[in-house]
Amino acid sequence: MPFHWTINPYRGCEYGCKYCYARYTHEFMEMAPEEFEDKIYAKSAAAHLLRQELGRIDRKEYIAIGTATDPYQPAERRYGRTRAILEVFARERGRHLTITTKSDLVTATSTSCARSPAPMWSV
Ligand code: SF4
Repeated sequence: MPFHWTINPYRGCEYGCKYCYARYTHEFMEMAPEEFEDKIYAKSAAAHLLRQELGRIDRKEYIAIGTATDPYQPAERRYGRTRAILEVFARERGRHLTITTKSDLVTATSTSCARSPAPMWSV
């Protein structure tokens, strides 16, 4: 699925797939690629920054959530970063979002977003 923008609420991914192309991203922080699934960083300012930046993004452009991490990995239950990001989008109309995940936690979120007064996404 093509996209113009990407949001990764976490750095690292607990699923630790051996084939993951994002494993090298831990090297940017001087960590070993093997730490990719053990040291997970939850981006605390992600929703705040999105709120600040979203007005500059054309509504025709596609935004992908989870291109270098799974946004619904187990850490999401504890930190809720993806949920906070979707709450920002819930105030919007006409945004094109995609979410890439292997977790069934996404179904709980999509149900609550569907109840939002301003449903906003096409997945
Ligand atoms: S980001 Fe995707 S491919 Fe990489 S470890 Fe997580 S689930 Fe696997």
